[in-house]
Amino acid sequence: MKIGLSACLYGKNVRYDGSNKKNEAILKLLEGHEIILICPELSAGFEIPHDPLEISKNKVFTCKGQDVTEKLEQGCLACLEKVKDCDLLILKQKSPSCGKGKIYDGSFSGKLMQGNGIFTKLCLKQGLKIFSEEEISDIKKEL
Ligand code: SF4
Repeated sequence: MKIGLSACLYGKNVRYDGSNKKNEAILKLLEGHEIILICPELSAGFEIPHDPLEISKNKVFTCKGQDVTEKLEQGCLACLEKVKDCDLLILKQKSPSCGKGKIYDGSFSGKLMQGNGIFTKLCLKQGLKIFSEEEISDIKKEL
């Protein structure tokens, strides 16, 4: 199968603070499959490290209040091109770009709310099948 994967889950140091969220359990599951790495924030041209981003009222802001919605949307479109023929995507939970089902609430205080990241929303609109790294048993059923 062809599977799109948030690059930070693969172990790439692409998070806003230059870290990664390598997920050994997911990588083990994906052995033998074709993996397409994407990072909407990197594709949008954000430097690493960069200010943290959160969604508020359907727009994306830095922690300093700068509206970066359009910039991030461009990165999401570029990533969509890479994954549009994937069988499924596994995206990093809670991210304003890749989150599925829960994201930070825009207050930069660590509080979560229900919602999807900008990239996740775009992919769902295209009918792509999306899981977060927290849905291992559901992913297993698909592979
Ligand atoms: S944009 Fe997605 S892939 Fe990139 S660091 Fe954030 S969660 Fe990971």
